[in-house]
Amino acid sequence: MVEEKIAKELRAIAGGDGYLDSREDLLNYSYDSSVDEAMPDAVVLPNSTEQISKIMKIADREKIPVIARGAGTNLSGGSIAVKGGIVIALTRMNAIKEFSKENRYAIVEAGLVNLDFQNYAMKQGLFFPPDPSSWAVATIGGNIAENAGGPRGVKYGVTRDWILGLKAVLADGTVIQTGGVTFKNVTGVDLTSLFCGSEGLLGIVTEATLKLLPLPPFKQSLQVFYPKIDDASKTVARIIGSGIVPVALELMDRVVINVVEDAKKIGLPKDVAAMLLVMVDGIESECRNQVRLIEQICKEEGASRVAIAENETQEEALWLGRRSALGCMSQLRPNCLLEDVTVPVSNLPVMIKGIYEIATKYNLTIGVMAHAGDGNTHPMIVTDKRDKEEWERAEKAIGDIFKLAVDLGGTLSGEHGVGISKKPFMNLIYGEAEFRVLKDLKKVLDPNGILNPGKIM
Ligand SMILES: Cc1cc2nc3c(=O)[nH]c(=O)nc-3n(C[C@H](O)[C@H](O)[C@H](O)COP(=O)(O)OP(=O)(O)OC[C@H]3O[C@@H](n4cnc5c(N)ncnc54)[C@H](O)[C@@H]3O)c2cc1C
Repeated sequence: MVEEKIAKELRAIAGGDGYLDSREDLLNYSYDSSVDEAMPDAVVLPNSTEQISKIMKIADREKIPVIARGAGTNLSGGSIAVKGGIVIALTRMNAIKEFSKENRYAIVEAGLVNLDFQNYAMKQGLFFPPDPSSWAVATIGGNIAENAGGPRGVKYGVTRDWILGLKAVLADGTVIQTGGVTFKNVTGVDLTSLFCGSEGLLGIVTEATLKLLPLPPFKQSLQVFYPKIDDASKTVARIIGSGIVPVALELMDRVVINVVEDAKKIGLPKDVAAMLLVMVDGIESECRNQVRLIEQICKEEGASRVAIAENETQEEALWLGRRSALGCMSQLRPNCLLEDVTVPVSNLPVMIKGIYEIATKYNLTIGVMAHAGDGNTHPMIVTDKRDKEEWERAEKAIGDIFKLAVDLGGTLSGEHGVGISKKPFMNLIYGEAEFRVLKDLKKVLDPNGILNPGKIM
C-alpha cells in the first residue's frame, strides 16, 4: 500500500475516481497478457500530461516505482509491477488532439486505442500503418513503448517508422517534446526513436505525432496450401526475392490450421502441412500482376491449392482463420506461450524445422505461425504452468528456440519486447558494452531507477 499521505497527494492530482487502491481494483492491474502477475500498490488514471508530471515528481521524491500501462496486452510481462509501486494507466488520455489531412499527420494522446484511431483516419481517406493484431484494444502509447508491428509490417515497417514526434514525462517530472510534425526533421539527435521500444524504462509517453498514409486504392489476397511446410517457407523467400513487396505474408502450420478449423469450421483443409496468406495493395492493375506472379511462384514451389479473393467478403473469409489463430490455440490448454523470434527470411525454413525438432525433444505441442515475410516467427507452446515438470520442459524449449534464432542471424523479439520474460536471455544479444550504454542512459534519464524497474536488464 502507498502511505496515506502520498495517496492523498495522488488523489488531489487525479481526482477521487482517478486513484484506485482497493484489492479488487489492484488485481485488475496485476497481470498483462504474459503468464506473470504482481500486485501494484496503487493505480492512477490521469487525464493530462501535467497530472503525470506531478505524479512523477512525487514518485521520484519518494523513490516509488512507476509502471506505465496502456491496455496491458503485452506478452512479455512489461506492464507488471514486479517491485510494486504505482501503475499509471493512460486509458483516459485517448483524445485525437489534431488531425491534418493536408500535412498527413495527427497528434493523439497515448491512451488512444489503435483501431479507434484507424477508424477515424479511414473516414478521412488516410491510415496509420502499424497494425498489431491486438489493435482493437492496444494503445498508441503501448505500441510506441513496444515498437509494435503487425501483419502489414512487411511493407510498412513498425511503429517507430510512423512516429514523427512525441511528448514524454521523465522520471523527475520534466516534460520533453521530441521531433515535430514535418516528415523531414534531422535537427539534433533522434530522441523520438529512443522512446520507441523503450518499454516504459526511459519516460512516460503522453502524446504522439503520427505520420499517415493515403489509403491504397486496391488490395487483394491469396490463400495458398502446401503438402510440405518447407515448400511454403521457401515460397516466402522467393516472393520477397522477386522484388514484390507484399503488405502481408503470413504462414500457419498444420497444428494451427487444425486447431483453427476444429474451433471455427471455416473450411480449412486439415491434411495440409502449411498455409500462406499473402496480401498486396496499391494500383489495381499492378496488384493483379503481382498476384499472378505470386500464384505462379507458389505453384512452382509445390502449392496444392491457391485461392484468390475477388471481393471484400472473400478477403474477410481468407483472413478469418489467421485472426482467430491465437485465440483458438489459447483454448487448448491453460497457457499458450507465444514467442516472436525473428530471423532473416532465407533462414525461415531452418528456423521452422528447428522448432519442430525442439517440440519433439521436449515432448511438447508447438504450433507455428509467422509474419513470414519479415521472418518474424511465432512458436506457440500450449502448456499448463501448474504442471511443474511440463513447465520446465516448456521453459527449456523456449531457451533453445531463442538460441537457434540468434545462431541463424536473428533476434529474440521482433514484436513483443523483452519485459521480464526475455530478460534472462538478453545476454544472447547485448554484450557488456551494450548493457553499459543502456545502464548509463537509464541513469541519466531516471537516476533513482523508478521507471518500470526489473525489466529488460
Ligand atoms: C492477441 C494479441 C495479439 C498481439 N499481436 C501483436 C502484433 O501483431 N504485433 C505486436 O507487435 N504485438 C502484438 N501483441 C502484443 C501487444 O499487443 C503490443 O505490444 C501492444 O503494443 C501493447 O500495447 P498496450 O497498450 O496493451 O501496452 P501495455 O501492454 O499496457 O504496455 C506495454 C509496455 O509498454 C509500456 N507502456 C505502455 N504505455 C506506455 C506509455 N504511454 N509510455 C511509456 N511506456 C508505456 C508498459 O510499461 C509496458 O512495458 C499482441 C498481443 C495480444 C494479446
